[in-house]
Amino acid sequence: MSSSRAATENAAAPPVPHASDAVMGTYARQDVVFTRGEGCWLIAENGDRYLDFGSGVAVNALGHAHPQLVAALTEQAGKLWHTSNLYRVAGQEALADKLTRLTFAERAFFCNSGAEACEGAIKLARRYQFVTGHPERWRIVTFRGAFHGRTLATIAAGGNPKYLEGFGEPATGFDHVELGDRAALEAAIGPETAAIMVEPVQGEGGVRAVSVEDLRHMREICDANGLLLILDEVQSGMGRTGRLFAHEWAGIAPDVMAIAKGLGGGFPVGAMLATADAAQGMTPGTHGSTFGGNPLAMAVAGTVIDIVSEPAFLDSVRAKSLQLKQGLAALKDQFPALVEEVRAAGFLSGLKLKEGVAPADVVKAAANERLLLVGAGDNTVRVLPPLIASEDELSQALARLSRALARVTKKS
Ligand SMILES: *Cc1c(COP(=O)(O)O)cnc(C)c1O
Repeated sequence: MSSSRAATENAAAPPVPHASDAVMGTYARQDVVFTRGEGCWLIAENGDRYLDFGSGVAVNALGHAHPQLVAALTEQAGKLWHTSNLYRVAGQEALADKLTRLTFAERAFFCNSGAEACEGAIKLARRYQFVTGHPERWRIVTFRGAFHGRTLATIAAGGNPKYLEGFGEPATGFDHVELGDRAALEAAIGPETAAIMVEPVQGEGGVRAVSVEDLRHMREICDANGLLLILDEVQSGMGRTGRLFAHEWAGIAPDVMAIAKGLGGGFPVGAMLATADAAQGMTPGTHGSTFGGNPLAMAVAGTVIDIVSEPAFLDSVRAKSLQLKQGLAALKDQFPALVEEVRAAGFLSGLKLKEGVAPADVVKAAANERLLLVGAGDNTVRVLPPLIASEDELSQALARLSRALARVTKKS
């Protein structure tokens, strides 16, 4: 819409309504309301245009209002929304066929979010051990800095004390080890261990990539001990690292994988994928979801996967990733007092900041430059462009981030 730029320059922007206290205060939200999106851009109530390099936390893989996704959703909306999983759902069968053709997996279960996909994967692993003669194996080894969601089991799996505080005794059955410490990992495996669960690249934890060698080591450990390897690719999957799934870089395959975020391109949907062997315990009555695999979600996700899995599309993400990484490296050179390290796994990238430099300050300064970024753990700010971002949009974002960093000061 051509009016948006005019509105930006118009002094008489419409007043921003007061934030409502009726929304529970679980987020420290930025004081901005977006009313429209176009590709990599979000348009605020007052007409300001923001370059969205947070992608709704790695969700809007194809940007906003992608014509093919709008068409898929509206076409399905006119036909059928929901039937429940008491009946066959054509869209689920079609999407499961696509996902199993494109990945290691032979079975798919659909849910609505990343946490549910992870929770389902934990249940599947325990159930696998149970039905294959090892009911004593139910513990899962996870990693410090991990994030698997906000349900009671997944906060225990992640082990972040901030997310566990005040919620009673953490769900039992999770053993946490340091990423990259192979001896500790081996020591954590015991007769009760069912699985290892890991994000190939920790997203919330600060864009910390697991090395190829460590991923291969985990695969070997699982094979040697009869354990399942569960990968949480909720954030790293769906093309974000330049491969359809991040583990492909290591040339290994998991037994189970949780996906969500980019899968629906903004429509809520998640999935757990597994080999037929790993999924053998998931028989009628063992797991379920009222909304999971809803026809609307399946129509949109089916379209997202068709676009993202195209080799030419993934090639373009890899090519643009190089531009992004070089641009971030230039920012590190330009602001050595602020930037400690470039963290980059394709379009799952960010800057680890120096001690005393707060990610929230960088996010705020960037927003002032009309660039949206997302904070993360390990004193990191994440740069998560939509996968469709053009070279020109990447250049614009880097220029905005440079201007933003120039205004950030170190506190100590
Ligand atoms: C976001 C995220 C989750 C949780 O997903 P929700 O949809 O918020 O429940 C789980 N694992 C990883 C790696 C994530 O990035």
